[in-house]
Amino acid sequence: MSQRPPVQTLSLKPQISWQEELIQAVRDPQTLLEYLQLPPELLPRAQAACQLFELRAPRPFLDRIAKGDLNDPLLRQVLPIQDELTLTPGYSADPLQEADSNPTQGLVHKYHGRVLLVVAPHCAINCRYCFRREFPYQDNNPSRQQWHQVFDTIRADRSISEVIFSGGDPLASPDRQLQWMVDQLVDIPHIRRLRVHTRLPIVIPQRITDDTLRWLADTRLQSVLVLHTNHPNELDHQVGQSIARLRSAGVTVLNQAVLLQGVNNDLETQIALSEALFAAGALPYYLHLLDKVQGAAHFAVADSDAIALHQQMQSRLPGFLVPKLAREEPGALNKTLIF
Ligand SMILES: *Cc1c(COP(=O)(O)O)cnc(C)c1O
Ligand code: SF4
Repeated sequence: MSQRPPVQTLSLKPQISWQEELIQAVRDPQTLLEYLQLPPELLPRAQAACQLFELRAPRPFLDRIAKGDLNDPLLRQVLPIQDELTLTPGYSADPLQEADSNPTQGLVHKYHGRVLLVVAPHCAINCRYCFRREFPYQDNNPSRQQWHQVFDTIRADRSISEVIFSGGDPLASPDRQLQWMVDQLVDIPHIRRLRVHTRLPIVIPQRITDDTLRWLADTRLQSVLVLHTNHPNELDHQVGQSIARLRSAGVTVLNQAVLLQGVNNDLETQIALSEALFAAGALPYYLHLLDKVQGAAHFAVADSDAIALHQQMQSRLPGFLVPKLAREEPGALNKTLIF
């Protein structure tokens, strides 16, 4: 070896808290373009797309994007673009018709044995493909008394054995509140499992604090955390450290991804994602087809292409590294597997 490695200055940056990272998240397109050294001509279209769904991108995530590269797969997930303004037939505001299964504020009970709690009304990041772009979060911000109603509903239904913390992103809530919710659930004998669906440990890895591990792992409930990672570049060293902490606390860590045109719709990326997840300690769980939400049609991958890709993954990867290809259909009693 004749060349010395470059001096690493990044690791000298003082780490700020996850709350501070949330506050400092980039919210206006001009800052985003400057931060990532992108052409200023993109600004008017980005501003127009932001009117429909605001921009939100924390810096730890932005720091994994290559500067000046418009094709970066992580950039495509956060940069508002002209395509979002296109109205596409067959795409709607509430593609999963969740309004129908949302009788009690904060509670979505669609699937047997499992209930989903809308724990936090917002996310750390606004993913441009999100099916909750137009979810009525303002109607889903229950008070403590309303949460008691939710827990009463769960207590009265012995068929429910698993509670899923969802959102928004449940980890956008403070650990104090999450601890309180778990304390209520632990008192309901038929609840055995706690599941958390979150993208926050990817977006801001320091979100996994000692307090998080306390409510998540130091409980009689078995805990499962489902990460949302779409591309192997999202899994940097710090994310790996947070997954390792979850695992050593006894949490099962899975991943779900969305199949996205221009982000991860090719074989090598999917293989790299599965390999990187497993190396970090997470198992691939679902590969979701895009929910048909208005403004996200440019992310869609045709069913036949998705099926072909999935078959190629099966021929290249061990079975446990092949996620299930699935979609959600309004009114169905489970996710629909695609073959
Ligand atoms: C995805 C989902 C679940 C969990 O489904 P699994 O197949 O067990 O992962 C539960 N409730 C709702 C509303 C969901 O969308
Ligand atoms: S983290 Fe999930 S719910 Fe939040 S914006 Fe992204 S895709 Fe949507």
